[in-house]
Amino acid sequence: MSADMVIVRKEGLYCVPGQFYIDPWRPVERAVITHAHGDHARGGHQHYLAAAPGVNVMKSRLGPINITGLAYGERLVHNGVTISLHPAGHVLGSAQVRMAYRGEVWVASGDYKVEADSTCAPFEPVRCDTFITESTFGLPIYRWQPQQEIYDDVNAWWAANAAQGRASVLLGYSFGKAQRLLSGLDPAIGPIICHGAVQTLNQVYREGGVWLPSTLMVSDVAKNDIGKSIVLASPSAAGSPWIKRFGDFSDAFASGWMQLRGARRRRGVDRGFVLSDHADWPGLLEAITATGAQRVIVTHGSIAVLVRWLQQQGLQASGFDTEYGDDETEPAAPAEEAGHA
Ligand SMILES: [Zn+2]
Ligand SMILES: [Zn+2]
Repeated sequence: MSADMVIVRKEGLYCVPGQFYIDPWRPVERAVITHAHGDHARGGHQHYLAAAPGVNVMKSRLGPINITGLAYGERLVHNGVTISLHPAGHVLGSAQVRMAYRGEVWVASGDYKVEADSTCAPFEPVRCDTFITESTFGLPIYRWQPQQEIYDDVNAWWAANAAQGRASVLLGYSFGKAQRLLSGLDPAIGPIICHGAVQTLNQVYREGGVWLPSTLMVSDVAKNDIGKSIVLASPSAAGSPWIKRFGDFSDAFASGWMQLRGARRRRGVDRGFVLSDHADWPGLLEAITATGAQRVIVTHGSIAVLVRWLQQQGLQASGFDTEYGDDETEPAAPAEEAGHA
């Protein structure tokens, strides 16, 4: 049996023959980054490699970095390891990292979502011997409705509020979640206002060729129209003076965690919309099966449950101890929203 191609070191996941890291949490010389959420893409590395559609997102969040963009599917050989990046369907530029070395193939998924949406390239299953998977929603209770049903619910809630002259404040992660929500809004209902943190990312998405409806800054909207508007803001804006200016508004939170009983109440919002940028339980199983991998390593989320389930299916399964966080609720680290407040 050959040695493991990818191991965990104190800096992060490490490709041994390739001598590079994947989404390291400590500064390293060479980092391959799956996507620009703060717990996966950190500052301080000497060289970054990421999928080409994610390069400008990374720059907008990390500032000036030494980064190379690789088109999806394009191959690069580094220290004998053939590296290619494949769409993960999670956020703009998100990628799975495929590594081939001496006839063996490993794939590190980063975060992924199986249902396609219009804001990023759809998840693509990649055949491999060993699949390193996330498991943020790796419990059988997590089963998402088709996203169009969620978009319809959001629009109905917005229209009902607008009819009463109340603004609708929709809280969701400023990178990825907010743009996906935007893509499902019906602009005929009223003005769409975005918090600065969201607007910055909207701009990067549009420049990357992603269609989003027209969005406004609050200063662009006449006072009389505020009551018809929907306001997209990151969770960190909740309770801020910026939000208070919308007066007697209705608020909602969009996250996969909203499926949990009591989650909406704990957030103190009027509505919870179950919309996640991660695979649900059936999605994880479908994605893992599609790789054909005999060995699966789980990095973050419900590791024990998924590992046990995979072992019961006869697969070789284990966990990696990582420092990846949760991008469905609050920023994983203060740095996550830094510069966008
Ligand atoms: Zn993520
Ligand atoms: Zn993650």
